[in-house]
Amino acid sequence: MNPATNQAIETFTPLTKDETLEAVKSADQAYQSWRHTSFKERKNAIAKFASLLRERKEEFAELITRDMGKRISESRQEIEFCAEIADFYAENAERFLADVPMEDVDADAYIHYEPIGVLMGVMPWNFPFYQVTRFAAPNIMAGNTVMVKHASNVPQCAEAIEKLFAECGLPDGVYTNLFIPSEFVDAIVSDSRVQGVSLTGSERAGAAVAALAGKNLKRSVLELGGNDPFIVLDDADIQQTVELAVKGRMVNAGQSCVASKRFILLESIADEFIEGFKEAMASMKMGDPMDEETTLAPLSTEGAAQKLQEQVQSTIDAGATVLLGGDRPDREGAYFNPTILTDVTPDMPTFDQELFGPVATVYVVKDETEAIELANRSSYGLGGSVYTRDKERGRKVAEQIETGMMFLNQPTSSQAELPFGGIKNSGYGRELSHLGILEFVNKKLIHLG
Ligand code: NDP
Repeated sequence: MNPATNQAIETFTPLTKDETLEAVKSADQAYQSWRHTSFKERKNAIAKFASLLRERKEEFAELITRDMGKRISESRQEIEFCAEIADFYAENAERFLADVPMEDVDADAYIHYEPIGVLMGVMPWNFPFYQVTRFAAPNIMAGNTVMVKHASNVPQCAEAIEKLFAECGLPDGVYTNLFIPSEFVDAIVSDSRVQGVSLTGSERAGAAVAALAGKNLKRSVLELGGNDPFIVLDDADIQQTVELAVKGRMVNAGQSCVASKRFILLESIADEFIEGFKEAMASMKMGDPMDEETTLAPLSTEGAAQKLQEQVQSTIDAGATVLLGGDRPDREGAYFNPTILTDVTPDMPTFDQELFGPVATVYVVKDETEAIELANRSSYGLGGSVYTRDKERGRKVAEQIETGMMFLNQPTSSQAELPFGGIKNSGYGRELSHLGILEFVNKKLIHLG
């Protein structure tokens, strides 16, 4: 479905259960030889993946935009970023997985990293190439083989990624796309040939997959939702902070786990910030995501826009004040108006929910202590950011926020070299950086006496 028009583009046939288990068998057979390949061979394939992404950037960017509605310029950035991630692991995997001598022991002992087997990835639609790349590239470099159940609304991307890995010279079964319903994930995770599962998505899906992993004693990594605080202290550069606030909230039409979602303002600068923020949000240009002039794209599906509408309406019904928007425009497609809500209180149903779209909630607090307390009043703990001209003051606030990532004077973002992941209901484990490649390897002790 193209969410900009709500028209169907293409239909795909899902696999049967038997076909799915056949694919697990192939992935396991592939693992038996892939695990013994050299880093050089793996590097050739993953570096080629990066270069083909760059070469065919336009083609893949258009697929993303047609599948889930992202603005075309953001789709291009996503493809470039995937190429960087692939290159990063192609270049560094051997170093990250080199033997580590044990210090502080009176023996010849070291940690030797080995792959563990077939891995299952359950991936979301919001960054359809990036989410898969950050799971697949490090794990294939580590010698594991991977199977991916992508979100049902991005099948064109799912299919293209599988074809691309095949074109890079990866043997059959090293990367497998599975067009399956989520109910089949159970049979895969409980299969003895599968050794781990990584999921990015909602808390609900994460809890379901973590339960399966636990029951079957499989390793898991979960990257779930977030409700990132954006904390503006009284000495921040307000004009610049407003620009960053819009950028932080509106990335991918607001559909990012690390988008800035809760704007926590010290009262002395609140009016100035809100005035600028409202003006900037109101000036977003809604339109066709293929049009370079568009600054606000549709949401990923009609269902997503309806769900957001329900969440926003229930917050308004419970007493929140609408500073901007609050509803959907009168046009075809899964669009939602830029929205700012204030007077949102902890007793309201959406206070602790992720609002996945162009909706900001604004809170005014009297001081830093109250800002920290409010920021931590969340069941999520993914990212967050603090704005101040005083680096030391910012650092002290950042250290007190209960999240996996904190940034000073810039919204949370992701880079190949930086670890990415959360705490609390935002999940566990880390992706990207050297930590990402260590999640699904055997950290084996070799003791030579
Ligand atoms: P889901 O979590 O439902 O989808 C993510 C992936 O998980 C998809 O591949 C989906 O498959 C799969 N999945 C869903 N339920 C299960 C299950 N029980 N067992 C195995 N796999 C499952 O996200 P939604 O698209 O429904 O979005 C709902 C909300 O989740 C958003 O509004 C947002 O708050 C949050 N979200 C957060 C993301 C993030 O980056 N942290 C990304 C996406 C969503 P299928 O598509 O076939 O249902």
